[in-house]
Amino acid sequence: MKSELMKMLEERKEEMIEIRRFLHENPELSFKEEKTAAYIADFYKGKDVEIETNVGNGFGIIVTIKGGTEGKTIGIRADFDALPIQEEADVPFKSKNEGVMHACGHDAHTAYMLILADCLIQLKDQLKGTIKIIHQHAEEQPPGGAKSIVESGKLDDLDAIFGIHVLPLAPARVVGYHSGYSFNGRSYFKLKIQGVGGHGSSPDKANDAIVAGAYFVTAVQTIVSRRVNPMDSGVVTIGSFDGKGSFNVIKDSIEIEGDIRYSDKQTQAIIDQEFHRVVKGIEELFGVTCELTYTPDYPPLYNDPELTALVAETLKAVQDKDIKEVKQFPKLSPSEDFAYYLEKIPGSYFYIGCTPNGVEEPYFNHHPKFDIDEDAILVAAKSVGYVVCGYFDQA
Ligand code: MN
Repeated sequence: MKSELMKMLEERKEEMIEIRRFLHENPELSFKEEKTAAYIADFYKGKDVEIETNVGNGFGIIVTIKGGTEGKTIGIRADFDALPIQEEADVPFKSKNEGVMHACGHDAHTAYMLILADCLIQLKDQLKGTIKIIHQHAEEQPPGGAKSIVESGKLDDLDAIFGIHVLPLAPARVVGYHSGYSFNGRSYFKLKIQGVGGHGSSPDKANDAIVAGAYFVTAVQTIVSRRVNPMDSGVVTIGSFDGKGSFNVIKDSIEIEGDIRYSDKQTQAIIDQEFHRVVKGIEELFGVTCELTYTPDYPPLYNDPELTALVAETLKAVQDKDIKEVKQFPKLSPSEDFAYYLEKIPGSYFYIGCTPNGVEEPYFNHHPKFDIDEDAILVAAKSVGYVVCGYFDQA
């Protein structure tokens, strides 16, 4: 089945590129991907599969392909939302939607997945189990789509899950993997410090919120530097400090907003605890009142070591002109909502090199000039195809 599948994918490379370009020209923002979802659903029309639309908190789609033989059930996921970015890439298939761009490569993810799914449908009698194709909406915008798809219960029967991301860390035909914690988790916070306003000349009759806020900003810096194990990593960023007032008036309240990142669950727990302690301490120290909104969103992404080894070994063993090198990639500091699937289902999220040909310093994902080597789309389809076959073979 493997060689038959690869041959079919090769024959449909141009079609994958066409789909990617169509999606690239017509990007839609997270939770607003109505037309993209309709396009995907339409692709499956008339095919012998079960399709569910509007899954989760948006336009999620699950397509179930039942194999000829009973066996394990695996999920493969591709996201399909775009970003609020004005495209600056000089390509003939530039975004037609003002201020919206497929700057993360989710167009390529969807393109490879549609064709791979179609080929798997045609070969399903030879499949030794069930495959659920997850076309996921809203990866870019917390709360994201993944969490709600997991909570829908429609993936409760999965034994394993896989997904890929195109990354310009390597040229096309290089596949990357990373075992264990691989993407950072993150939390958002907003802190309102309420003091008492007053005349600049009479601090004794007021309670200065700016001074309390300034101590807070300094104190939270010690969480990462003094509390987190130096072998793990965390980030606390104050992105906004709103205390604008008049030069001779003591400010009654200020608002601080920020972003917290952590490499693993243990570091997350330490930062959570210490952060709340600092807030409590500021109240005690200055006699102010703190109103805190603290929202963890995407968790740290944990790749199952066994299944990541399966991905690496399966792909290293193939003789394929489109997969020249399979190597370990570094941990990545952004966050990715595939982490929610991996909290419930063992799996692996791996990487497809996509640096455009001849480019030495490529624009990274989310840059207005982000672009990919379109050969990477076939590499993605083949890699995920091999992993699916490899998984069923060993199951
Ligand atoms: Mn992405």
